Amino acid sequence: MSVLDLFRLDGKVAVVTGGNRGIGKAIAVALAEAGASVVVAARDAERNEQTVAELAKVGPAALAVTTDVTDRAALVAMRETVTEQLGPIDVLINNAGVGIHGESLTLDDEGWQRVMATNLDAVWKASQVVGEQMVARRSGSIVNIGSMSGLIINRPQWHAPYAVSKAGVHHLTRSLAAEWAPHGVRVNALAPGYTKTEISDIDDPKWRHYWIDEVPMQRYAQAAEIAPSALYLAADASSFVTGSVLVIDGGYTLW
Ligand code: NDP
Repeated sequence: MSVLDLFRLDGKVAVVTGGNRGIGKAIAVALAEAGASVVVAARDAERNEQTVAELAKVGPAALAVTTDVTDRAALVAMRETVTEQLGPIDVLINNAGVGIHGESLTLDDEGWQRVMATNLDAVWKASQVVGEQMVARRSGSIVNIGSMSGLIINRPQWHAPYAVSKAGVHHLTRSLAAEWAPHGVRVNALAPGYTKTEISDIDDPKWRHYWIDEVPMQRYAQAAEIAPSALYLAADASSFVTGSVLVIDGGYTLW
């Protein structure tokens, strides 16, 4: 067996929340190329279907399941649909997320709650809903998409609720990893730095100084540069890795 076989996901079922664009879509493509049957679980049904059509060109048949990750009942329905149509879930990528910007005195409770509901509460809910099945099968890998914002305070782009939600994701990752390690389920996280997608208005000239000049590698990431690390953590290549937060930030958090 070649070491490259450890990165294969043939016969596995992988759910990617928010898999219809940005980092989630890049991860969905990587998992499909590695042989997984990928489930795109996001709210925009049309975009989910478009993504599934693209995935089918690079991997096994994929499945779109319209899902609002903030809704526990929707997550349970998603798990049941996937299990019925493809089989039990082997890999869960908790990627769906929303951003928020603003100084703390200008943000309201609605903004705080919206960010927490999508970025943190939903990771808790989806991990429970899918983790229950994984623990029962004594097998599974969960990869949560955190952020470098959960590790440092990246001034002057103030976004306290977002940063707190991502710090919560990192610690939830470690908590679940410890609880579920004896049950054969691994839980890890990625902490990406600035990545060009819709969540980040990265080409706004007023931010370029921070998104490029202040990054040791002097550039931001493309979504496709985040995806291989998700594949690594999803696959047997990382079979002894659990509770880790893998930083992919071009060196931003070094200084
Ligand atoms: P995008 O805005 O490009 O994509 C967000 C995705 O999340 C969409 O597919 C969207 O689909 C989905 N989504 C949002 N809300 C929900 C919901 N309630 N239920 C289901 N799906 C939802 O974001 P990115 O690709 O940039 O970000 C992906 C992840 O990476 C996020 O968790 C983000 O915080 C994190 N991240 C991003 C960084 C960056 O610089 N881009 C840096 C560090 C971390 P739909 O609207 O159809 O539901």
